[in-house]
Amino acid sequence: MLIDSHCHLHDREFFSNEEAKSALKKAAATDVTKIICIGTDPDDSEAARLFAEQNSNVFYTYGIHPSECQKFAVEKPAGSAKLVGIGEIGLDYHYSPETREDQIKLFEQLLQLATDKNLPVSFHVREAFDDFFGVIQNFPRIRGVVHSFSDSKKVLKRILNETDFYVGLNGLATYSTLPTPPLEKILLETDAPFLAPTPFRGTKNEPAYIKEIALWLAEHLGTDIVTVSETTSKNVHDLFNI
Ligand SMILES: [Zn+2]
Repeated sequence: MLIDSHCHLHDREFFSNEEAKSALKKAAATDVTKIICIGTDPDDSEAARLFAEQNSNVFYTYGIHPSECQKFAVEKPAGSAKLVGIGEIGLDYHYSPETREDQIKLFEQLLQLATDKNLPVSFHVREAFDDFFGVIQNFPRIRGVVHSFSDSKKVLKRILNETDFYVGLNGLATYSTLPTPPLEKILLETDAPFLAPTPFRGTKNEPAYIKEIALWLAEHLGTDIVTVSETTSKNVHDLFNI
């Protein structure tokens, strides 16, 4: 049993209805039994909710991506048994360093929402870890996963030493030299349609490719895919309660 803990399969900008349906079938046939669709703004989160309510093995999160910080305000997410987290939220100074203050303000509001609702968080952090560590210090009850980690060994160590967060590992790992977190801290994710793993690099990513990432990780760690599947699925269960 494998789980895709972060994808955008509900987003009709990337997947038509038919494509999403066939991707779900392919995922099930590849032993990817659960999928979390991640919201990037209130409308997109609503699309994720509808998609999750139509498909028994799909769950979703409510979030506003830091790049959308000047377009959207925090609203109350619709109540749903399929809502398993808040995200993706965070700070991204790679594309929009000029909106730093607005990003931090929005991030704090969404961390408060996660605290109030007692929901785990999917973090998007890029070139902004100093501010990230500063902000989360004020929210000690927050649990979460640093999605698509792509920073240095030093930053990875800080995450592991200073927080209880999990780290999201995806197709990037299969063709780069990123530091690898310990298996007990890894959540597997595709971030589909982005970041397809080797050997599908350059094509549209989909949840079934979690298998390729798991195979890569098993080989990289010198272990077997059963150990990788069981441990990472348990990690998702412990964080998102699915
Ligand atoms: Zn994403």
